[in-house]
Amino acid sequence: EDKQLYSKRVIREIMDNHGLHFKKSLGQNFLTDKNILDGIVDAAAIDKNSAVIEIGPGIGTLTQQLAKHAGKVIAVELDQRFIPVLTDNFRHLNHVSVIHGDALEIDFSKLISEQIFSNSNTQIVDNETAIKRIHVVANLPYYVTTPIIMRLLEERLNLFNIVVMIQKEVAERIQAIPGTKDYGALSIAAQYYAKPEIVSVVPRTVFIPEPNVDSAVIRLSLLEKPVVQVDKEEVFFKAIKAGFANRRKTLWNNFKAFDQRLSQDEMRAIFAAALVDEKRRGETLTIEEYARLGNEINRNLL
Ligand code: SAM
Repeated sequence: EDKQLYSKRVIREIMDNHGLHFKKSLGQNFLTDKNILDGIVDAAAIDKNSAVIEIGPGIGTLTQQLAKHAGKVIAVELDQRFIPVLTDNFRHLNHVSVIHGDALEIDFSKLISEQIFSNSNTQIVDNETAIKRIHVVANLPYYVTTPIIMRLLEERLNLFNIVVMIQKEVAERIQAIPGTKDYGALSIAAQYYAKPEIVSVVPRTVFIPEPNVDSAVIRLSLLEKPVVQVDKEEVFFKAIKAGFANRRKTLWNNFKAFDQRLSQDEMRAIFAAALVDEKRRGETLTIEEYARLGNEINRNLL
């Protein structure tokens, strides 16, 4: 008797009944394909021990599928107009919470402790229903894809994985390896915290309204600890930024003015100690090489 929230007819009906239109400025492109929704849920490996934070539920198309498998779903939607729709659609499900909030601002660790681990919220406490893993699953609003993903990674929320639908180009950049045109600061930042895998490429035709780009589902499996030893993250990320500041320039030219406190001789010594040839270009360096470079710079600044 449940409404099929992925059906184009049902989506249009709900939008009409509430007098709503899609807001392009909020990246509102809703999924209408059951197979793709199932693929997202499968890729995240969600079960009764999973708590899922969903960003941007819209009318609840993905939420409905997540709720079938997860022990808990927390759906965070920015657009106030959808809150009554969501509340209405999931009123009968105790394990689904609808939160009006902005994924760029919301305090995720507070959300996790209040919504997932607070005792008042736990209905049955036994081993079979205890939450063991936290996932973020979303069909992200594309205008804020990168800042949302970076927030989720940087805040060390102890997530198990992040499975999101994003622009295909961004997914390719996240997954890119050194020496390719897609490789950049985003690739390194994401791969520092997680193992990225593109799960599927999705045509624009499965959304209403259709976006102007093709999409991909990417899974970021969070690492227990970063892949490289970084002494000071601030310097590591500054080095990455410098390395890609001008792709046509050599590292030497991009790093010449890295820090006023470092002379040219010191900078040369840093490259030598890091075993990185300063005549290379930033896009050829591995994460390990950026880590060595950052650590050497940091040592010289202490
Ligand atoms: N989950 C639905 C689906 O798959 O059909 C809708 C996905 S739609 C691509 C993105 C959703 O994110 C919209 O409902 C939009 O209102 C919401 N949104 C946009 N910006 C947001 C933000 N900063 N924080 C939370 N939600 C946001």
